[in-house]
Amino acid sequence: MPEILDRARVQVLESGVGLDEASVLEILQLPDEHLAAALQLAHDVRMKWCGPEVEVEGIVSLKTGGCPEDCHFCSQSGLFASPVRAVWLDIPSLVKAAKQTAATGATEFCIVAAVRGPDEKLMKQLRAGVEAIKAEVDIQVAASLGMLTQEQVDDMVDMGIHRYNHNLETCKSFFPNVVTTHSWEERWDTLNMVRESGMEVCCGGILGLGETLEQRAEFAAQLGELKPHEVPLNFLNPRPGTPLGDQPVVEAKDALRAIAAFRLALPHTILRYAGGREITLGDLGTKDGLLGGINAVIVGNYLTTLGRSPSEDLELLNELQMPVKALSATL
Ligand code: SF4
Repeated sequence: MPEILDRARVQVLESGVGLDEASVLEILQLPDEHLAAALQLAHDVRMKWCGPEVEVEGIVSLKTGGCPEDCHFCSQSGLFASPVRAVWLDIPSLVKAAKQTAATGATEFCIVAAVRGPDEKLMKQLRAGVEAIKAEVDIQVAASLGMLTQEQVDDMVDMGIHRYNHNLETCKSFFPNVVTTHSWEERWDTLNMVRESGMEVCCGGILGLGETLEQRAEFAAQLGELKPHEVPLNFLNPRPGTPLGDQPVVEAKDALRAIAAFRLALPHTILRYAGGREITLGDLGTKDGLLGGINAVIVGNYLTTLGRSPSEDLELLNELQMPVKALSATL
């Protein structure tokens, strides 16, 4: 057994203290023959510190495409030749999507918009949408609308939004290779305001953007410093027309090593499978991740790509005897 796994067992499993950057890197560099042991340890950590429940979430896009930012992985940027055009969703459709999400057993419904940050029109739409959902659907509402001002943070608290998603996407040192229209620090500032407001912080990123393993470890450590309530872990699904359209997909074993490493860096966090797992891992890998530290999934479709059907995911959770987290447990 490699020494790092023994060390992680004592530090993370027994004491609940996440691995630091250097130790995360050791996990990311483990040879294939030790991958199963790393996943098992990550699973044990998740079971001990988070329990067997899996949090299920649905997402809906209030405004899709036409974003002025240039995140190189994103087909919603209006700056690339990608096929996603700007479209707004109306309130009845939003409520319908929330109902469909709740019907899967999901407790979280995240309203997302492709913007640098919300303008007055979007904040009004959000308020109307959240009010309409809360009147008709028993589900917690989260939002993801880019960078915020303090006033907007306060408004969202007032609307009853309980969790805000804002991904750092990648580590600080690699970020300028991926985004040039805003800085990592600007994202960090929004996250701090959200945390201080009392809303739960959801912050993750995308692996496979061209970052090195060292930078992947740096990212895990930076998330460890932020201590988000939830970390959505995406794997790049290269979108045609974006600057990263030809980037190779993360190898399944590297993706699984990363899942184990992020769980060992973040023993208490909800670690959510987000986009890209289908092409990186396939069905078998999805199961491996759920047995390797993941404890939350997004059901249904992602913002610009199709996911697996909710019933497939729910059947898998049933097979693994992992109960879907109930709403009462999260309120
Ligand atoms: S990731 Fe968000 S901010 Fe960046 S281009 Fe896409 S929608 Fe805009």
